[in-house]
Amino acid sequence: MNGRLRMLSATRAAARRRNYQTGWPSADSFASPRPGDLALRAYCVNPRSGKLRTVKLKFNPNMRCYLCDVQLKEYSVKPKEQTLAEAFTVDHVPPEGLFPKPRPGDLIEVPCCFVCNNRHSGFDERLRIVASMPFDRNEAGQRILDQKVIGSTLAKERQMQFLEKLAASIQAVPGRPGLFRAGKGIRNEEYKDGMIRITKGLLYALHPAIDYLGSAFTATEIRQQSSDEQRGRMTQLMRGEFLERGHGVFRCWRHIDESRQRGAWMLIFYECYGFFVFHTRET
Ligand SMILES: [Zn+2]
Repeated sequence: MNGRLRMLSATRAAARRRNYQTGWPSADSFASPRPGDLALRAYCVNPRSGKLRTVKLKFNPNMRCYLCDVQLKEYSVKPKEQTLAEAFTVDHVPPEGLFPKPRPGDLIEVPCCFVCNNRHSGFDERLRIVASMPFDRNEAGQRILDQKVIGSTLAKERQMQFLEKLAASIQAVPGRPGLFRAGKGIRNEEYKDGMIRITKGLLYALHPAIDYLGSAFTATEIRQQSSDEQRGRMTQLMRGEFLERGHGVFRCWRHIDESRQRGAWMLIFYECYGFFVFHTRET
């Protein structure tokens, strides 16, 4: 299976040789101000290892979990000691595991409770596998595939069930000899839910006037050979506000209508894997 995944890794070079035009939007013509550091440096507990680590987001007693809205408490634990469900932890949007090292210093951090931070265990790792797999990934995607997917996940034999499913889904790209694609038949809902969580985190950090907790969200994957309708949507969204984290790792475009409490987003990873996310206040 290792070999099959390596085959996908090699197809990017094949795509280049054929001068394959992927049609994904490029951010080169966009410049945008970046939001400043959210807070001063502080310490918090890493929910996975129980270790203290440095973060920029500083606890304050009014903080609530960006996903479930529970009031957070500051609580330090020793490794393996049980922690409180509402203990303050920091979540990164998008997940920090998507960024090749050295990681950028401007990742967006949001407050999260211990339970929400651990509820989707393994998702970050599966997302980086799926997002770095398409043959039209960029250099950042290639680095993550080499450093993390092949260098860590496969080497340490984590996510084996998932990787077996993924390897079984590898297919030739029609009309593109030598190019392969994986992912058909892989459960899509997990990634849609993940994109909605990322959007909620970005709304928390960037648009405090939007009451996203009372909103309904939908997410749609952007197909690799997108339809005219999807291309039209992409073009429209690219007129909106732009945000990038890590060079070419994560790009997003958004239109937010605060008066009507709704928004439209396009989230793109490694210039090859993307979703539209829409939200509107529930009536
Ligand atoms: Zn929570």
